[in-house]
Amino acid sequence: MNAQESEKKQSSSRFNIFNIFRYKELKEDDINDIIEELRYELLESDVSLEVTDKILEDLKNALIGKKVSRSEDLENLVKESLKKSIKDILEKNKSIDDLIDTIKKSEKPYVIVFFGINGVGKTTTIAKFAYMLKEHGLKVIVSASDTFRAAAQEQLALHCEKLKIPLVKGKYGGDPASVAFDAIKSAKSRNIDVVLIDTAGRMHVDKDLTEELKRIIRIAKPNLKLLVLDSLAGNDALEQAKYFDEIVNYDGVILTKVDADAKGGIVLSLAYELKKPVLYIGIGQEYSDLTPFSVNWFMEKLFS
Ligand code: GDP
Repeated sequence: MNAQESEKKQSSSRFNIFNIFRYKELKEDDINDIIEELRYELLESDVSLEVTDKILEDLKNALIGKKVSRSEDLENLVKESLKKSIKDILEKNKSIDDLIDTIKKSEKPYVIVFFGINGVGKTTTIAKFAYMLKEHGLKVIVSASDTFRAAAQEQLALHCEKLKIPLVKGKYGGDPASVAFDAIKSAKSRNIDVVLIDTAGRMHVDKDLTEELKRIIRIAKPNLKLLVLDSLAGNDALEQAKYFDEIVNYDGVILTKVDADAKGGIVLSLAYELKKPVLYIGIGQEYSDLTPFSVNWFMEKLFS
């Protein structure tokens, strides 16, 4: 079998569930197979149960009672309904249109706090963020407010050196909020546009971390609070998102490691269950591998 025939065979077998309908008005019983198949596919793509139920409910409403004459009609109907309900979920949550523009119009310094548990890619993300802001002509300072891990400060220092960006460090074990305070003070005196604040990323169930994060936020009064999540963490990422939502009302999420075959369902769960938009995605380990999240890009990824 040549490649074209093989592809044809695969695509026809993928959609053979549609072949059973010809010239009929759809009833609930007729679409059970499709619903069950899609339930499996959505859950496999890390879409949560709650969101899967909502999407399939929309789909049932869109299909039942419709007359279809050919299997392709049904297939198109299913695709259109899925696209519409997913787009609806995502588009309800656009909280900032253009961050760079917002920063340029805001009073200086614009303060952004980043948080997330260890290993999600927070340090790398802050470096990427600093790079992006610099590329847009903005002056940046970084606050190494993770005073609990000496390695975290060192890693951040290395990035800042490479990017030629000033860094404010604290003493090991020192008060992270006062490091942030110093960074903001320094930004004001040096006419710096943006302060990026790193925070300690211990386990998300850590009570001290909770209080510390709240204190940093009280003192730094950030314009933007961003949670960094690892797209490969599946359900655990959603649990982290819920946990941080209880302690900090954050504005949006940066999803890292999307290049590493992440399934992406978390994006829908965040939008539908927590009303939190994904604002940026990390797509590699280079500084330039941070890109704004786009609904169209996500739809293509999910339906490819
Ligand atoms: P932190 O503990 O949250 O500060 O995590 P790090 O920033 O140290 O990142 C942990 C690992 O994830 C490092 O090896 C990073 O290079 C890697 N990483 C971070 N973001 C991305 C990304 O978007 N894509 C890929 N492939 N790797 C990433």
